[in-house]
Amino acid sequence: MKDQNLYDNFIKACQNCNKCVLAKTRTNVVIGRGNNLSAPVMLVGEGPGEQEDLTGLAFVGRAGKLLDHLLNALMFKPEDYYICNIVKCRPPNNREPSREEAEACLPYLRFQVKYIKPKIIVCLGATALKYLVSEDARITKVRGTWIERPGFFRIMPTYHPAAVLRDPGKKEEMFQDMKKVREYLKTISE
Ligand code: URA
Repeated sequence: MKDQNLYDNFIKACQNCNKCVLAKTRTNVVIGRGNNLSAPVMLVGEGPGEQEDLTGLAFVGRAGKLLDHLLNALMFKPEDYYICNIVKCRPPNNREPSREEAEACLPYLRFQVKYIKPKIIVCLGATALKYLVSEDARITKVRGTWIERPGFFRIMPTYHPAAVLRDPGKKEEMFQDMKKVREYLKTISE
């Protein structure tokens, strides 16, 4: 059984957070999206955009629609995944979060990983890869290949859906990467 009290305190801490400048301009703190706090797959993006800031939910704008479409096409069920971001407040004009902002926010993401205990983490794009894997990793080089964290989870880096919207040629590669996630999920759920 998961400690609900611990989770409620985490939500309160996020909602009252003032650890970086993004707190000043946010409408809502975007903690994540998903109906299963034990989901085997966690997808991590960069940070909320306009729609996410307005609704308080992760990946509900154009990029989110593309992501949902892909997940549905691969027959992921809503309880299979939880979607969140490196930072929980919208960076103005959707700029990349600064190192200070990301580092201020990462303890919250670490809490979510410890609480949800995913078996697979999908890094959606370069910012997630930078903070969850390595500063030196390049998404175009490592996408589609598993990165192991033995005893914890494995990581699949792939494109950010916004990059696919900008360059539809990347869609098939992202589909193939997510297909690997789907296939691995099948083997661990059997
Ligand atoms: N882009 C992201 O990285 N995250 C969201 O939640 C929405 C768009």
